[in-house]
Amino acid sequence: MLGLLVALAGVVFVFVKSGNTWWQLVTAAVLAGVLTQTAFLGHDAAHRQIFKSGKWNDWTSLIIANLLVGISYGWWRKKHTRHHANPNKQGSDPDIHFTAVAFTPDQAQRHSHPFVRWLVAHQGWWFFPILLLEGINLHISGIRRVFGRERVERRWVESTLLLLRIGGYLAIVFSVLPPGKAVVFLIVQLGLFGLYMGASFAPNHVGMPLVSSKLKLDFLRRQVNRPGFVGGCVVYATSRFGVAVLACRW
Ligand SMILES: [Zn+2]
Repeated sequence: MLGLLVALAGVVFVFVKSGNTWWQLVTAAVLAGVLTQTAFLGHDAAHRQIFKSGKWNDWTSLIIANLLVGISYGWWRKKHTRHHANPNKQGSDPDIHFTAVAFTPDQAQRHSHPFVRWLVAHQGWWFFPILLLEGINLHISGIRRVFGRERVERRWVESTLLLLRIGGYLAIVFSVLPPGKAVVFLIVQLGLFGLYMGASFAPNHVGMPLVSSKLKLDFLRRQVNRPGFVGGCVVYATSRFGVAVLACRW
């Protein structure tokens, strides 16, 4: 954990010191990688794998998610708990329900908008480019929940930390770089963050057996041989896209 905090502080230091240069796009790429690893750490804290105390894990995950990564812990935890309760079960696992990606023929047919239907029909081609948007999607989904009407535990803490993170980040980026370069920096950082996060989620679902919503499984079968990308690297490719992607976490 300390190593990641040092890495994060180091990236911010290098960014501020480097000033107005296109080399900052390299900083954006490094930041995307460090933030993804930081998010993984938040995930592990949420699973109570860092401290003995549940409270310490809970608050660590909240601070990592909201203040460091800029994603709402409350929004994500609720979704993630449902995912682990019924991994890859249709109708129950929120991580296999997306607008632009279908996991079953039924999901591919459910859209009425012609553009989304076309997108889903060609998802083999669009899968990796779409992942570039996953970072923005994660930030916006959390913001919508925290500032929306649905019940959120510790709403004030969550919203304050999110505002500090997102406002502070934008203030630093736009104070170091001129507006045009700052926007390109954000596009690269958010795009690569989404690609890395999405490429890490995908091996849990793509090509894994799906469970029908009607099938009742006992706890052991539900959890064994189900998704669980614990550590190491996975290389995978879509047959049509023809590109191998390496997703690593440690
Ligand atoms: Zn998990």
